[in-house]
Amino acid sequence: MEERTEQLRKIKDEIVGAKNSPLHDFRIKNKFLPVIGEGDHYAKIIFIGEAPGKNEALTGRPFCGAAGKILDELLQSIGIDRKEVYVTNIVKDRPPFNRDPLPEEIEFYAPFLDRQIEIIRPEAIATLGRFSMDYIMKKFQPKADQPLAGGESISALHGKTFTAKTSYGEVKIIPLYHPAVAIYNIHEKETLKKDFEILKKFAK
Ligand code: URA
Repeated sequence: MEERTEQLRKIKDEIVGAKNSPLHDFRIKNKFLPVIGEGDHYAKIIFIGEAPGKNEALTGRPFCGAAGKILDELLQSIGIDRKEVYVTNIVKDRPPFNRDPLPEEIEFYAPFLDRQIEIIRPEAIATLGRFSMDYIMKKFQPKADQPLAGGESISALHGKTFTAKTSYGEVKIIPLYHPAVAIYNIHEKETLKKDFEILKKFAK
């Protein structure tokens, strides 16, 4: 098997068998699947969401429900095919009742995300929502590419670009709102569309 595929397969096997995961028992009880990630193993852009929802946990595929539809639409609007990118989440199992991920859940699953980034070596990391933004900003401590108005909330940082050093070279970090915010809100969808324009230059 191709090396990256093999390394990613290993991550999947580890998560499937991780009985020490805080969400393992909930997954088994509900016959859910872990959601590892999907897309091009040589993608220039990696999208990082929050955690699987019900549709995702039933299929094992990230962003395949209502938020996924919006993500597909946003990608289409900038001429990027979903197959060209890699899509994953910070938390790999569905939290009960779609609640926010707990700090211990993020702590448990984040090392798997770190490894995915190291394997795929993306040129751009696009975070979707505040949980993946907070984690990636803290991990990479990137420098802003433009002056910032102040504040570290997603409303201050979305659509801005940052540069960070990684073990494999430079990466751009682009915090974005979570596509779910656009399901019922046209205004937020327009903001997301505008922010997605930044990603055009990372098209294959
Ligand atoms: N929301 C997320 O953050 N991730 C998914 O995979 C689906 C919905």
